[in-house]
Amino acid sequence: MASRGVASVLGGPNVDSGGSPRRQTATVDVGGVPVGGRHPIVVQSMTNTDTADADATALQVARLAHAGSELVRVTVNTDAAAAAVPDMIRKLRDLGVGVPVIGDFHYNGHQLLVEFPETARLLAKYRINPGNVGSKHHDENFQTIVRVAIDNGKPVRIGVNWGSLDQQLLTSLMDANARLAAPRDSRDVMIEAMVESATRSAALAEATGLPHDRIILSAKVSRVRDLVDVYRILATRTDLPLHLGLTEAGLGMKGIVASTAGLAILLGEGIGDTIRVSLTPAPGGEREEEVRVAQQVLQSMGLRSFLPQVSACPGCGRTTSTFFQEMAERIQGYLREQMPEWRAVYPGVEELTVAVMGCVVNGPGESKHADIGISLPGTFEAPVAPVFVDGKLDRTLRGDGLVDEFIGLLEGYVERRYGPASAGARPA
Ligand code: SF4
Repeated sequence: MASRGVASVLGGPNVDSGGSPRRQTATVDVGGVPVGGRHPIVVQSMTNTDTADADATALQVARLAHAGSELVRVTVNTDAAAAAVPDMIRKLRDLGVGVPVIGDFHYNGHQLLVEFPETARLLAKYRINPGNVGSKHHDENFQTIVRVAIDNGKPVRIGVNWGSLDQQLLTSLMDANARLAAPRDSRDVMIEAMVESATRSAALAEATGLPHDRIILSAKVSRVRDLVDVYRILATRTDLPLHLGLTEAGLGMKGIVASTAGLAILLGEGIGDTIRVSLTPAPGGEREEEVRVAQQVLQSMGLRSFLPQVSACPGCGRTTSTFFQEMAERIQGYLREQMPEWRAVYPGVEELTVAVMGCVVNGPGESKHADIGISLPGTFEAPVAPVFVDGKLDRTLRGDGLVDEFIGLLEGYVERRYGPASAGARPA
């Protein structure tokens, strides 16, 4: 299978740029993308197409990868879906998209992975939900998937979800809790059950023969405080890499804020090796939004860089014009559009900072802190816009062509600072 490492996906160094106090874990190779250890925190996403539709799924995987998703998961839930995976991956590779594709299995993964060996061979990782492998033959079904992973040299993610928590395990822990002189809160028992489900399943996978460095764990819940508590405990019980995410985060702003709140707390504590933001797209909305949010969380925390950042002031009574807001939006959009090309020719450009400010109060100061910034005139100020480059006043712009002129200056700056001619001058 064609694959690319994180470094080649990003065009950047294969280290954690934020220098965060990352929890030390094993490193798991997922189709050429290293997850865990000191490797950059990996952004992943999941399709919402019918996997049996190979064209639609290949197209969505390609879009997610183009947006920056370094791993993409697809549902494999039926014979038709399992049968379509090889064709879908072939179409992706024909499009020149090398992103590793992960299969998400519930209920029948032990059958599908055996009956569709080409699918098992081409998927980069299998996600197993230990709550959904069947109660009667739980361990047997689980071990069947693990053996397919061993035979194919694949890693697995043991992905516990509180909506499908192993009921036998939960019941036994609840019963044991009820017998205590001072029973714990049922929420605490649920959290314990999630941690136990993940760690016991990992132990069973290793006992079956899966190497330690082929297991990733997750334990997803839909409330921020539960997420933080469950992962804090999980992080003390295992050195396996952790996949973070709030499950069923929800729509729009609610999903973005809740996911960010939970992820930020844990990432700030060095917990988490790969993240997914489970947003519910608005009808007709873009699936890639979840990738952009995940990237922005990591970039805002200084853990990774994906896209030049535009600082813009919120505006206030000192500037009744919305011009600076429109200009900031246009520049942000321009930078996003340029990035696929810039990433290839201007290494390091994702760390560029740009400021677009609304008046003289904070405008010059913020612009001086950015690599390149412009301070627009507020109400009653002279109609001139000073441009600062590397902290120094470079020139003053005025008039109708100001935005285009600033974009021209921005392009020149990027070429000078990140272009081939600057390579010798850049620090190694
Ligand atoms: S920079 Fe000026 S316009 Fe922007 S928020 Fe501050 S005072 Fe208001």
